[in-house]
Amino acid sequence: MSDRKQFRAIKGTRDILPPDSALWNWFEHTAREVFESYNFGEIRLPIFEETTLFARSIGEETDVVAKEMYTFQDRGTIQVGYPQTVEEVISSDEAVRAAWELKRLPQTPENELRVNLMHHACRSIAEEGAPALLRFVAELHALDLGDSITLRPEATASVCRAYIEHNMQALPANQKLYYIGPMFRRERPQKGRYRQFYQIGAEVLGQSDAPAIDAEVLEMLLVFFNRVGLTRTTLYVNSIGDKNCRPQYVELLREELRKVKDKLKEDSQRRIETNPLRVLDSKIPDEQPIIEKLPRISDHLCDDCRAHFAKLKEELNLRGIEYRENWRLVRGLDYYTRTTFEVTAEGLGSQNAVCGGGRYDGLVELLGGPPTKGIGFAIGTDRSILSIEEGGNAPRIGGLAAYIAWMGQASYPTAVNIAGKLRAAGLSVELPPEEMKFKKSLGLADKLGARYALIIGEDEVASRTFTLKRLADGDQKKLAEGELLEYLESERRR
Ligand code: AMP
Repeated sequence: MSDRKQFRAIKGTRDILPPDSALWNWFEHTAREVFESYNFGEIRLPIFEETTLFARSIGEETDVVAKEMYTFQDRGTIQVGYPQTVEEVISSDEAVRAAWELKRLPQTPENELRVNLMHHACRSIAEEGAPALLRFVAELHALDLGDSITLRPEATASVCRAYIEHNMQALPANQKLYYIGPMFRRERPQKGRYRQFYQIGAEVLGQSDAPAIDAEVLEMLLVFFNRVGLTRTTLYVNSIGDKNCRPQYVELLREELRKVKDKLKEDSQRRIETNPLRVLDSKIPDEQPIIEKLPRISDHLCDDCRAHFAKLKEELNLRGIEYRENWRLVRGLDYYTRTTFEVTAEGLGSQNAVCGGGRYDGLVELLGGPPTKGIGFAIGTDRSILSIEEGGNAPRIGGLAAYIAWMGQASYPTAVNIAGKLRAAGLSVELPPEEMKFKKSLGLADKLGARYALIIGEDEVASRTFTLKRLADGDQKKLAEGELLEYLESERRR
């Protein structure tokens, strides 16, 4: 009659266990090394933000915002605090209204409810006095109205929010920032697609939109991919124009799409009105010949955007970066302008994009900051590691250097002491917590994948020389304590 539930990780989430986690750490560590060599610094961001930050930056019509965000109502307290006296009530009401009008309280339905509640309460408190005040505070508590909060589906919006919040435009030169961490999207899970997935991203924010910035960001990305053995990749680039030329192109695209509406499937039909660029993302086979005949943004760029794109390609050539142009690369998020890019990798099936990015001049301004240029990318860690593993390029990382096979209680103190010394020298050492039979102990050393077994019995303790057995071929050496460390360290370097 057991009703004990077997808990499992929620659909679309997973545990990364050793030894895979060592590969993940190495991957992230290498990103830090490469990015820091380009003078990028790490920004650590919150996992959740106000919902409106994502809605406004990513765009209400995108799949991410419309269908995929993990959003919840926080338990809250009113932002301006509870009034304590009747006099304070009057000024609190004014404070809330002023905050609302000055847009310091986000204009959400919840906040509107708060403002109205406060206003009604204030009137009755002014008439009735303290009893009404107490009732009002109790009501607010009961309502527990908090802000609408979302687990971040991506981090560019947060980076821009932080840029504005910390007044980073006042700092000298462009801000070059990178982040590492989990993102959350309620997508349909499949190979390479999760609901909690991990990204490593980099952003450059500042006053310049020089194509050399775009090229350097791409160079850094490819140097990193090269360093981690993610080599079977293709870089696609495109320019999607800016606020001067994109709206006209989108309108033209919409008109052309309306003409062929009947031949398109439901999703694309809807997108004609909501977000026609997204039709170009369609993978539906029947739609491909239709899409191929649509007008292309490259024929409709304004002079500035055309020059920017030409210079970018020149800069890529200068750096010896191979790329392909893909006019359909518009990306799912609304905020991109000009340069967009994507890197695909082999061995991943349909979810083969390992990195996406582009320019987002204007996003900081859209979020209430100063006019700012921006470019960045996000690498999907889950997929990158999958591709490295499938390509057989995953390095053997770490692993157990030595297993200490101690026998006899009298040798235990020496075993503890030597384990400590080897560990302090940076070696990974397993010290069995209980005495074991010699054969069993060596068998376990083998199963754990240790490179060496260090045998410490009572004879070894008496003579202070130890037997080091290489488990791969059974080769044995007798070494004094001082030689032992030296030998294991030189082996590690080989
Ligand atoms: P995006 O933020 O949509 O531009 O995505 C950038 C990269 O993140 C993609 O190229 C993928 O490698 C990765 N990515 C996006 N969504 C997911 C997901 N649901 N699961 C795993 N990786 C993802």
